[in-house]
Formats: sequence, structure tokens, C-alpha cells
Amino acid sequence: MKKFDFLIVGLGLSGISFCEQLEAGGHSFLVYEKGTDASASTVAGGLYNPVVLKKFTPIWNATEQSKTALTFYTRLEQKLQTQLDYKLPVLRKLANAREGELWKEASQKETLKEFLDSEVLLNDNPHILAEFGFGKVKHTGRIDTGKLLIAYADYLRSKQLLVQEKIEYTNIKHTSYGVIYHNKVYRFVVFCEGCGLLKNPFFNYLPLIENKGELLQIFAPGLQLEKILKGPIFIIPIKKDRYLAGTTYDHQFTNRLPTAESKNLIISKLKTMVDCEFTVEDHFLGFRPTVLDRRPLLGKHPIQTRLALLNGMGTRGVLLAPSMAKNLYCYLLFDIPLDKEIDIRRYEKRLKRD
Ligand SMILES: Cc1cc2nc3c(=O)[nH]c(=O)nc-3n(C[C@H](O)[C@H](O)[C@H](O)COP(=O)(O)OP(=O)(O)OC[C@H]3O[C@@H](n4cnc5c(N)ncnc54)[C@H](O)[C@@H]3O)c2cc1C
Repeated sequence: MKKFDFLIVGLGLSGISFCEQLEAGGHSFLVYEKGTDASASTVAGGLYNPVVLKKFTPIWNATEQSKTALTFYTRLEQKLQTQLDYKLPVLRKLANAREGELWKEASQKETLKEFLDSEVLLNDNPHILAEFGFGKVKHTGRIDTGKLLIAYADYLRSKQLLVQEKIEYTNIKHTSYGVIYHNKVYRFVVFCEGCGLLKNPFFNYLPLIENKGELLQIFAPGLQLEKILKGPIFIIPIKKDRYLAGTTYDHQFTNRLPTAESKNLIISKLKTMVDCEFTVEDHFLGFRPTVLDRRPLLGKHPIQTRLALLNGMGTRGVLLAPSMAKNLYCYLLFDIPLDKEIDIRRYEKRLKRD
């Protein structure tokens, strides 16, 4: 039987991040990807932004995540010979003069200095509605995740490391020397399945919640916006005169299709931000793998310890996945403990209960 160090299940941002760790460490691996139109990584807006813009607070481990992710995408650009990282500032629309003051105060805080420009910028675009101007966030931009997924799958295919099939959990066999799947032996299996986790009998005791997100692609030739704009929604430039607008957040959805209701909601929010003609060209939908306590899910299965998990990237997979993959890799291979906040052991009681 052929032996590999790792089997990776799922090729979204998490799976790609873990593959990169394995390649750098010189480990053998195979990836299984079932292929789906609605994986979170395929439709993601791709935005990376280390600040929570509702409350003006840094995201969890902002500096570390930002540094690891930016280095990661630069290396991928070199490896895949294509541009993935479009560095663009995020302009946060200020709702009133008081918010402008709060922005200036926040920009002086030790944890935010690095990310918030202290100036309040005035609006000079006649098609943008922003009476009180903007605060500018630094070290932000957009990763073209759709392009990354295609290029990375091509790369793996060229090395015969990608199997385009769904993993059937019942065919996984556990032995003392490794996990057997389809006549191959693996030292570890790492599940990077996003919302697919809900069907995984080994890990579905964990509190992963599907959060449905919809976004629109619009054509707005008059807008002439070259930065990412954040108001009630994001407007992200993607190519000449074309923008992504969204997104919605819904964890109590009743159907798995794009809805007219969400489309109208995005359009109505868009109209509070721009004053120009636009047409909707496309309507996308995906499901974010979010977690009850808003922290990722990493670790080994409590009983089948050759099965590991890299999941729960929530609304910020672009920044989170590279550093989480690094943490899991160091844990599995060098026994470096995971931070309690991200270790799935925090939910072990649920397994016993089930
Ligand atoms: C509309 C929307 C907009 C978003 N915008 C942003 C954004 O701007 N910035 C940001 O940082 N994040 C954003 N996100 C969140 C981000 O997309 C996710 O955090 C991230 O993509 C999760 O990546 P993942 O690899 O963990 O999961 P996924 O991308 O869901 O990948 C999991 C993969 O596993 C495969 N799989 C599952 N089960 C199996 C199986 N049994 N066998 C084989 N393969 C399997 C699936 O086909 C899938 O390809 C957005 C999400 C949505 C839905």
C-alpha cells in the first residue's frame, strides 16, 4: 500500500494554507476536493482588514495574522506566477462628526496605531455619499480567492496531488500504523471542509454554524472608486467599473438559494452610499463556517488522534487561514500546544454528551 504523510480533505483557503505548510516542510500528501459552486472560499469578497470597523477594535491577534497572511500570499503569487493580492486601503464612511472624533481617538491607541490613519479624509468623489468623510485603514486589500483556488488546483493537478472526489467517511479505516483510505495509508488526515464539517461523523459534535452570505457584482461606470469603501456594506473594486457589493449575514436561513430579498437589501444599502447609476451583473452566495465563540476550530479528534481539524475561519478566512494552518502544523508535528481559545478540546464535553 502506498504511504503518505497527510490526506487533506477540502481545498478552500484552509486546505491551501495547510498544503503550503506541508510543502515547505517536505511532507508527502494528497488532497481530496469534492468541488462545489458555493464553497465559502470561491465566492468570498477576499477582503483582508485587521480592524473591526463597527467598534474600532483590532481583530484577534491582528498583527500576527496580518504579517503571516501577507507573506503567505506574496509567496503564493511567486509560486503560481499570478497576481492575487490587490493592495487597496479601506475607507470607513463616518456617520457623523462624533464618529470622526472617535476615529481620531482610536487611531492613537497602541493596538490600533499601526492600522488606522489618524486623519479624517474628506470626500472628493461626487458619486459617493459621505458628508462626514472617511477614516482610512492601512495594510488592507483584496485577495482574488476565486483565481487562487483555480490556480492552486491546477498546480496540485500538475503534480498529481489532487483527487477530485468527495471523501466517504465510512470508508476511512483506523489502524495502529495509520489511517487507510482507498488503499493508501496516511499518518494524519486533516479535515478542511468548511461547512462540510456538519456531515463529518468524527467532528460534527462541534458547534459550527453555517452563515449564509450573498453578494452582488455591479457595473457602475460613473463611480470611479479605486479604494474599498465600508458603510452599511462593503463596495470592493474588482476590475474596471466593476465592484462587489455586500454582504449579507444569515444563520437562520430557510433556503439555500440566492434570494430577491437579500438582493434588494444590498441594493438599498448601496443607495445610501453611492449616487450614480449601476446595474447588477451577478449574484453570488456562499456559506461561512462560523463558530459559537467566534474562534477557529483546530486540533485532533479526542479518540481517533490521527484525524485532525482545521476549520471555523468564519468571516475572516483570508487573514486567519495561513496562521491557523501554521499553528496546526506545529501542533501535529512538533507537539507545540495550541492556544486554548482555538483548540477543539474546549468543546470536549459536547462529545461526551453526544
Ligand atoms: C459571501 C461571502 C463573502 C466572504 N467574504 C470574505 C472576505 O471578504 N474576507 C474574508 O476573509 N473572508 C470572507 N468570507 C469568509 C471566507 O470565505 C471563509 O472564512 C473561508 O473561505 C473558509 O475557508 P475554508 O477553506 O475553511 O472553507 P471552504 O472555503 O468552505 O472550503 C471547504 C472545501 O472543502 C470541500 N469539502 C467539504 N466536504 C468535503 C468532502 N467530504 N470531501 C471532499 N471535499 C470536501 C468543499 O467542497 C470546499 O471546497 C466570505 C464568505 C462568504 C460566504
